[in-house]
Amino acid sequence: MPEYHVGQDYSGTLKSDLFFEFVVPEDSDLAHLVYPKQEGWEYISKRSPTELELAEEDTKAWLEVGILKQKLNRNKNCNTDPSHVTEVYFTELVLELFNSDEDEVILSEFNLTRPWFEMPGDEQATLVTKAFADRVRQSGLRGATFLPAKLNNSEQPANRKIPPLFAFQFQGKKCLRPFKVQGAENACPFCGRKPLICQECDFSYSTCPQCDQSAWTPLNKHGGPKDKSLIISPPEQREILVMEGKRWDGSDFVFANGIEFVNPGIISKRALDWLLSIHAAPFCARSLKFCTDGMSDQQRQQLEEIQKPIHS
Ligand SMILES: [Zn+2]
Ligand SMILES: [Zn+2]
Repeated sequence: MPEYHVGQDYSGTLKSDLFFEFVVPEDSDLAHLVYPKQEGWEYISKRSPTELELAEEDTKAWLEVGILKQKLNRNKNCNTDPSHVTEVYFTELVLELFNSDEDEVILSEFNLTRPWFEMPGDEQATLVTKAFADRVRQSGLRGATFLPAKLNNSEQPANRKIPPLFAFQFQGKKCLRPFKVQGAENACPFCGRKPLICQECDFSYSTCPQCDQSAWTPLNKHGGPKDKSLIISPPEQREILVMEGKRWDGSDFVFANGIEFVNPGIISKRALDWLLSIHAAPFCARSLKFCTDGMSDQQRQQLEEIQKPIHS
């Protein structure tokens, strides 16, 4: 019997440093602890001044917002099952300001702002200024869109000017390799509903929609031979994502898990270099694995292209 049933499949020709997982940290000061180097987070772009430096000064604060209202569009582009959600995007976003009236709000052109959560599991957005959005649009990088966000700031102090904000969305088609089920059927271990993890689009049911049981569990929570649930691999076995080159649409900004808490987006090497060159902050990035098997000539040509730097 294998050690686990559900895990990442690292077979095939895998290349590193072509694409990167991209995250805007909740707390820029603590980014290096939450996204440590030993877990592959090689690039950490920090804001200056830091929260700590600002706390000493006491008058200025970084922009802080929460999501007040949102509308979402759910793409369903799976050929195996048209009910599978493949990508999720905001189509409307209303923000509320969390800064106090006393704060002098600071935000420079190339700052990335992540709204605070009211609840864990809430959607997350990446907010940028118009200047940032314009620079990305002019850069030649592919796959980004910018949705104007409304700020509910009717009672703001008269001297406060919050610039227009845009949700920075990665609209390259999702092309992550789905987790693989081994030593068991790709089906709910309780009622047999299949598949558990769609092998085309990566849509997965950790809780079975038919019998409502949770399909997998980590080894330390598994109840042994009498427990029917499947065992999921340890996090270190599956945390580096695999992107399927043969399903890649040529974008520099690629959807991963979008607005959900983990792995929101993927950026190409040239997009990473470009974001670093314009001093976009804060963000963290780590290399993922890119599988080159089965790619078309056009995809290979685009892959060559995204390895050449673009000028800011
Ligand atoms: Zn079931
Ligand atoms: Zn599917």
